[in-house]
Amino acid sequence: MKRTALKIGAAVLSATRQGADFRKRLEIFRSLFQGDPARFDEWRLRRRQEIELLARSAPYYGKGEFLTVGQVDKSVVRSRPDLFMVRKGIWPSVVKTKTSGTTGVGLTLYTDREAIATQAAAWWLFRSFFGIELGDRGMVVGGRRIPRGSGCLGDWIVLPGLRQLYVSSFNMSANAIDEYLTAMERYGVRWVHGYPSALLVIAEHILRKNVRLNLDLRLVSTGSETISSAGRELLKEAFRCEVSEFYGQVENVCAMWRCPRGTLHDLGVIGDITLDPRDDELFEIVGSGYWNSVMPLLGYRTGDILTGRVDNCGCGFPYPIGLEIEGRVDDYVLNSKGTRVGRLARIFTHVRNCGEAQLVQIGLKRFVLNLGRGGVVDKTEFQRDLQNMLGEEVELTVVHQDEFVRTKGGKVKSVVREI
Ligand SMILES: [Zn+2]
Repeated sequence: MKRTALKIGAAVLSATRQGADFRKRLEIFRSLFQGDPARFDEWRLRRRQEIELLARSAPYYGKGEFLTVGQVDKSVVRSRPDLFMVRKGIWPSVVKTKTSGTTGVGLTLYTDREAIATQAAAWWLFRSFFGIELGDRGMVVGGRRIPRGSGCLGDWIVLPGLRQLYVSSFNMSANAIDEYLTAMERYGVRWVHGYPSALLVIAEHILRKNVRLNLDLRLVSTGSETISSAGRELLKEAFRCEVSEFYGQVENVCAMWRCPRGTLHDLGVIGDITLDPRDDELFEIVGSGYWNSVMPLLGYRTGDILTGRVDNCGCGFPYPIGLEIEGRVDDYVLNSKGTRVGRLARIFTHVRNCGEAQLVQIGLKRFVLNLGRGGVVDKTEFQRDLQNMLGEEVELTVVHQDEFVRTKGGKVKSVVREI
């Protein structure tokens, strides 16, 4: 019964997400990429002006200077969402969403159906860059739990309304993965999208068992978590197709994607991006979304970090911006003096042969490094780098495991602090 409810839910969702608004937007987006680049710039400027004009009726922005970079952060939106609403009261097309919040406290956001349809159009625009047509079947690996059906060992379900095979990141056992692979072939998916932590487990399984997928797969894309370049290579080797990345947030203030040459580009159709320098080559991503006419978020600090700024890319797509999304501003560990130490992604370069690694701080000066199956690390080097960053000696245990600590939303964070 619950599985039927999921299917019906998906059909309703596809009607909201992929109706007339969706098709209209997708057509406009595609034409922007085909036309004169100057026209794209003009279109963006117009979108920005329109949303700014609208935002002036929200109490937070008022008539004052609201365009300062990064003025709005999550804590303000969390405590006073009403200040960002342009109209009082709730009207029929308004949709309320909640983010799970990696630090435990989520945000309540309001948007409307048109904005949701626009977000879906941005997704299909991205897929179209890789030769995927509207309506092509796909597989999504995400953090929803799925009720088991009869004769089904894994956690998967076909959602005909969305033309999707949905797989839960909570079940990555070898038996379940075998079922997912069979389901992928049977359903004939052309694209796959999901959390890299889960996709890498599937990729490792494919390579270990030497599975040859009988599929015309065009694209494997990742999102919601960081992925290393070694992880991307592993996906390419296992799935034998293009591997890309899509960056966005529930707040929907901006979007980025990774082009076939490996550069991250501002997608350009969701919002403006400003990079706020935090350190050498390290920027916080600040977005101003074009589409939320219920609760506009402008100059919004996403808390996500971009590294390696790029101004040019030979791929021919507009708005190249950077190399890696390195994690979140709040990914840090503590030394015994209580100093926060962040930017830990670089120490994971010592880990080889597995796409997944997670550093857990279990106490002051005490750490556990969780590695996926087959992962190899030079423990001495890893420990030395960690000690250099913290400025003190630490105890490090390396643990190999199949299952990682996941957030409520099913994500794996690369840095977890248990103190
Ligand atoms: Zn490029």
